[in-house]
Amino acid sequence: MNPITGEWTIIATERAKRPHLPNRAEEIIHSGDAHDPECFFCYGNEYTTPPEVFSYREKQGAPDSPGWTLRVVPNKYSALSLNGEFSIENKGLLEFSSHARGSAEVVIESPHHTLNTALFPEPQIELLLKAYKQRYNFLCQDPSVKYIAMFKNNGSPAGASLSHPHSQIIATPVIPPLIEQELAGAKKYFKEHNRCVYCDMAESELENRSRIIYENNEFLAFAPYASKSPFETWVMPRFHSSAYNRLNDKQLKSLSEVWKKVLYKIYRGLDNPPYNYFIHTSPTQENAGNFFHWHMELIPKMTIMAGFELGTGMCINIAIPEQSAEYLRGIV
Ligand SMILES: [Zn+2]
Ligand SMILES: [Zn+2]
Ligand SMILES: [Zn+2]
Repeated sequence: MNPITGEWTIIATERAKRPHLPNRAEEIIHSGDAHDPECFFCYGNEYTTPPEVFSYREKQGAPDSPGWTLRVVPNKYSALSLNGEFSIENKGLLEFSSHARGSAEVVIESPHHTLNTALFPEPQIELLLKAYKQRYNFLCQDPSVKYIAMFKNNGSPAGASLSHPHSQIIATPVIPPLIEQELAGAKKYFKEHNRCVYCDMAESELENRSRIIYENNEFLAFAPYASKSPFETWVMPRFHSSAYNRLNDKQLKSLSEVWKKVLYKIYRGLDNPPYNYFIHTSPTQENAGNFFHWHMELIPKMTIMAGFELGTGMCINIAIPEQSAEYLRGIV
């Protein structure tokens, strides 16, 4: 059982299969062109996106022109925008609706059209993690923003509609239910034990060691005990911190080392699977400093949620987290 949310997972040991490392000859090496003249996110096509809200450039250059190393633009197809009033309408007991107010941005992670994020040099991963923080710090100033979701969909089965590496940041006017659930669980645990449940989790993973995938002095990557799907991987700081945006430069660098390792292990070990990753951090206006602990969750899409999962909210995981962790530890 997930000690934070109370969700149950059934680990189906008899169905568990160990993955086979793809043989080197079949390994997907990033192939394809660095540049696609048809792509909205490639150099030279900056005019096809809404004007950029943020970019890193090695040399000074005009906004919305080539030369950037990372670029953030509003999402053209967003359901949310910061213009417009936010209000919650109560249309009776069971019908609440809220007019969408918030914002959605796309982080174009690199100018290279086909380079998989897992193969980025570490400094580019660092830039990406830093961009999340900087956009967070900007977006959280809007008082109507309650939560900022930072996530990536990799591969079309995971919801990525464009192949150029990108991730997304969505500021929402409400706290999403999954975050509410984690907050409530962490708060309850804190009330009972006067300790942070995530700190306790990290401590027990470090003691037990069987589910650890990678670690350095500041961060820990592991396969959680109640993994909902095969190769689910969490990364969290070993020090207590409720908010991702409070990472300092040294910590960001340290996180980049661990995150790069995780992305590479998943890419190489599981043959570039579709995946989603997201950062769970404290809501913008919540005082969750004592009991909440930010973390990243990466979920490879190896199975499809079916009737049992959708109907009960319980998951059947066909991989044993200890074996998944052992396998990923071995990928270098
Ligand atoms: Zn492109
Ligand atoms: Zn903690
Ligand atoms: Zn979480």
